[in-house]
Amino acid sequence: MCGIHTAAGESIGHDHHDDHDDVGTAGAPARVFLPRPRQRTRRAFLGDFGAGTVAVALFTPTLLAACGSEADSDVGLAAAAVSPTGGSEIPTRRASQATAGNESDADLRWARTDLGFVSAYVLARGNTAAIVDTGTTGSAAAIGESLTGLGLNWSDVEHVILTHKHPDHIGSIDEVVAEAINATVYAGEADLSEIETSPVTGLVGGEDIFGFEAVATPGHTAGHMVVIDHDAGLLVAGDAIFGEGGGVAEGPERFFADVEQSRESIRQLAGLSFNTLLMGHGEPIEIGADTAVADLAASFG
Ligand SMILES: [Zn+2]
Ligand SMILES: [Zn+2]
Repeated sequence: MCGIHTAAGESIGHDHHDDHDDVGTAGAPARVFLPRPRQRTRRAFLGDFGAGTVAVALFTPTLLAACGSEADSDVGLAAAAVSPTGGSEIPTRRASQATAGNESDADLRWARTDLGFVSAYVLARGNTAAIVDTGTTGSAAAIGESLTGLGLNWSDVEHVILTHKHPDHIGSIDEVVAEAINATVYAGEADLSEIETSPVTGLVGGEDIFGFEAVATPGHTAGHMVVIDHDAGLLVAGDAIFGEGGGVAEGPERFFADVEQSRESIRQLAGLSFNTLLMGHGEPIEIGADTAVADLAASFG
């Protein structure tokens, strides 16, 4: 645990990692916002599904590829995100409304493919899967292990959603498409010109994919997209929001095409209801994530 937080869980701006000294226009430390405690609701998550964990790819130099074009600064990001153990695990979770009854095909399960400093995610309902982001080059095997951990295989993948065009998110798209032969690939319309795989279906926001709503969240890149399952209360945010210190933060400005536009997108996300937040960088938040995002948005003034 790092930083200083009030009893109410509100964060006090602090310098989380020395390697963040070189980010931001003024070298300001990232402000981290933690989820606030609140009463559990019917949407409260059921917690661990008990599926255990699956070891996956370890941190390798290839994972230092840039989120954006400035590889030098990503080394700091990568170092910040590597777990103390140096290993990676794929937790599998089940998200559903806390209603009585048997598990149905509508129940959403998810698994994180922790690739070191960036993550991909597998979402599953029944025997159908969607993959969100593909990590850097060489990540397909690890994503395949996440599928296996959910009891699925490549032929069950019907959707591959790319949140944005950066190489740490689309690096394995060709490998993934070669395996997931039944999948449709999606990405934000404005990022399509820099995603060299085919075919890719352009998104503008408002589309329904697999029970997830695509939401346009420009700023990090012009075509950045997130997806949210409103019923399960799960948001997959790509790089629209960065995870840090168990909470959320704005990402380093140098990785953002348009910071003001990104803040407007975060304000938009702050108006949504979700418990679980899965981000491209940093640890997932599984309870009360929307409170942290609301506090982040409020900090913009
Ligand atoms: Zn990234
Ligand atoms: Zn990015």
